Amino acid sequence: MLKQTIQRWERCISASRRRGDGHTKRKKHLFGKWVRSMSSSTIQSNDNRTTWDSVPKERVECVVIGAGVVGIAVARALALKGREVLVVESAPTFGTGTSSRNSEVIHAGIYYPLNSFKAIFCVRGREMLYEYCSKHDIPHKQIGKLIVATRSSEIPKLNDILNCGIQNGVDGLKIVDGVEAMKMEPELQCVKAILSPLTGIVDSHSLMLSLVGEAENQGTTFTYNSTVIGGHLEGSEICLHVTETDRLTEWKGTSILQPELLLIPKLVVNSTGLSSPVLAKRFNGPKSGVVPPAYYARGCYFTLSNTKNSPFRRLIYPIPEDGGIGVHVTIDLNGQVKFGPNVEWIDSVDDISSFQNKERTFMEYLVLLIFLESSHPV
Ligand SMILES: Cc1cc2nc3c(=O)[nH]c(=O)nc-3n(C[C@H](O)[C@H](O)[C@H](O)COP(=O)(O)OP(=O)(O)OC[C@H]3O[C@@H](n4cnc5c(N)ncnc54)[C@H](O)[C@@H]3O)c2cc1C
Repeated sequence: MLKQTIQRWERCISASRRRGDGHTKRKKHLFGKWVRSMSSSTIQSNDNRTTWDSVPKERVECVVIGAGVVGIAVARALALKGREVLVVESAPTFGTGTSSRNSEVIHAGIYYPLNSFKAIFCVRGREMLYEYCSKHDIPHKQIGKLIVATRSSEIPKLNDILNCGIQNGVDGLKIVDGVEAMKMEPELQCVKAILSPLTGIVDSHSLMLSLVGEAENQGTTFTYNSTVIGGHLEGSEICLHVTETDRLTEWKGTSILQPELLLIPKLVVNSTGLSSPVLAKRFNGPKSGVVPPAYYARGCYFTLSNTKNSPFRRLIYPIPEDGGIGVHVTIDLNGQVKFGPNVEWIDSVDDISSFQNKERTFMEYLVLLIFLESSHPV
């Protein structure tokens, strides 16, 4: 069924190319301008049902939108339960969004509010992640972490964090005084610290590769360069509007964007990361207010260069700040040390740029710029 879907879709796309619709002439130089000038109203999938009659339709049991670590893991879990799964990803491959731009830390589960989903899932997820990595030979290391107070006024906050972590069920947490912490990490300066021995690091790409492999072995189909641009309800069924990602690049923004395929799944998982709220709003079904608002921030990492050995053996974190857990020291499995990320709140990005990870390209550029400017080791 899924193979037929993809084949029919490919035939439909090439037919539309032969007809000349879909703006096959490449005008990439204007792309940025189009994207910025698009208003939500012009990129809404058409609400006029009759125009969808000519669009090919396919039924699929489960559609997972987005192949970041979350989508891949969900697809694998569904496939292991014997479900038919199609993963639709806008990029040319999996894991090119936030899932490959993070600190690669296996968090212990310390900071989250008691009984919140984050607190519960982080503790359970950490246990499962270590188990999965060991079983599947995914490079990882339980190197531990120190959360540090650099002045005495921060000590009450440190105690709050410790209590929160203990209540969340994180084992092994303990307060160490400044002398002991600096003995453990001679390059550190602090007055007190929390030692979290369960925190670790993981090779996120190997992890995703392994999850994709398992999902595919269980029959999951991954379709790349394919973007879900919206959806609508037909009775109790949801119809997903799908198009080739290239078509978005070529689209002038002056006409209404038509889907090239309608997918009708029994189960939809919207795991499009930063795009999730934007995409959810484009399903003509959920009432406004159901979809939580999105607030975007940009962060930069600084790489420590000109050193053969990492000055730290553990991850070092400050007291958390608004909008994040603070600029921390991360060490990857090759011993590369990074400081970051900082937090800069930014305006929202438009829908189509978000589906294509355009905000990410800008982030990459910014990181590069800052890295070039900071030629001195941090
Ligand atoms: C700076 C930073 C550091 C972090 N550090 C850590 C850490 O150390 N440890 C940790 O556990 N977590 C960390 N995180 C969080 C973690 O990286 C994310 O929670 C996780 O990667 C989110 O995965 P995802 O699959 O939801 O999203 P993503 O990885 O962004 O995947 C979403 C996918 O959906 C695709 N997509 C988007 N729109 C569409 C569409 N319309 N149609 C089809 N496909 C679409 C995208 O191309 C993308 O591939 C960090 C996050 C950040 C920002």
